[in-house]
Amino acid sequence: MNWYELYWQRITPLHLFLWPISQLLILFQSVRRFLYRRAILTSIHLPVPIIIIDSITTDSPVKTSLIIQIANILKAAGLRPGIISRGYPDNHRPPTRVTISSHPHLTGEKSLLLTYHLRETCPVWIGYDRIETAKALLNAHKECNVLICDDGLQDLRLQRDFEAVIVDTSVINSGNGLIMPAGPLRDSFARLKHTDAVILAGHQRRIPDITDEIRTIHTRPQKEHFFNLSWPELTADAAGLAGKRIHAIVCDPDTQNFLDNLEFLKLTITPRVFPENHHFIATDFQSDEAEIILIPEEDAVKCLSLHDDRIWVLQQEYRADPGLREIILKKLREKFMDPKLLDILVCPLCKGPLIYKKDRLELICKADRLAYPIRDGIPVMLEDEARKLPDEEEIK
Ligand code: ZN
Repeated sequence: MNWYELYWQRITPLHLFLWPISQLLILFQSVRRFLYRRAILTSIHLPVPIIIIDSITTDSPVKTSLIIQIANILKAAGLRPGIISRGYPDNHRPPTRVTISSHPHLTGEKSLLLTYHLRETCPVWIGYDRIETAKALLNAHKECNVLICDDGLQDLRLQRDFEAVIVDTSVINSGNGLIMPAGPLRDSFARLKHTDAVILAGHQRRIPDITDEIRTIHTRPQKEHFFNLSWPELTADAAGLAGKRIHAIVCDPDTQNFLDNLEFLKLTITPRVFPENHHFIATDFQSDEAEIILIPEEDAVKCLSLHDDRIWVLQQEYRADPGLREIILKKLREKFMDPKLLDILVCPLCKGPLIYKKDRLELICKADRLAYPIRDGIPVMLEDEARKLPDEEEIK
């Protein structure tokens, strides 16, 4: 835990000085928002719809899970999402693609975790400037037709089509409830009036400042389970691992949380604590007599290159209510009504242009002789769902 995070958990005499700074910050943000709304400051419009997912607190354990869920919703609807992120807070590097073999110190653990879970089906790019990163991604992956932006609540330069803000009451309740730098909140609750959806996480099922007009979606933690790092399709619950010689690997400062979780799951383990930002190498585990090595998700991505089949990961997944799918797809349907947006879509196979057939609601690739359907207002850019054009069908 950083020194300032300790301050966010209490009220001290220092807060007499920090509180006025927080108020100034809120005023500054309100003025900026007003200037962007009145188009006095210029914002950038990107050619594909942008979905912003951010948290009102500095961090929320729910966010990565939620981004994976949204990417899967989009993919299942036939869209081709990409994800942009800062990667880690002080990343000043130009746009870079994150791959499964990227070094976690250069990409940040969370973006590597997104890449690991979404594999090759959804590119993840990181960089200092969100707009440049989005442009670089779209340039490299012409098939991407919607972008999810991890963070960006306050980056109003980037025009957004849908914005969801996570309000994690477990983080707010464990802090002092003040706005940065005095507390863990990044903005006032009044900011939520200007967002499309509030994603409520934590035990409290309602927060007083959110009125009924704002769409509120609840998230729920899923039952904890483990998956094998080398073979993610191999999963087990605690009972499936019980009785084996288990070592639990954890890096400071997350130690207690992880060990408490394993104790709660009634697993007998030998804990091994490594320093924060430890770079794992094969010899760290070579002398282990462990049959199973358990590790939290964020540390697991640092062990991908070890290819050790004994490593199992504790996955804590959060799932948003189905209402989230409805409101995101509704918004995207409205966007894809615009023929200009259909014009920029390319064939995911050959990356060539498509011909829009309004009467049949199809997008045709001449080169591959495939017709991609527009189903329920959403272009379904999946080869398996496309109609193979018979030889006699003429394409005009
Ligand atoms: Zn094609």
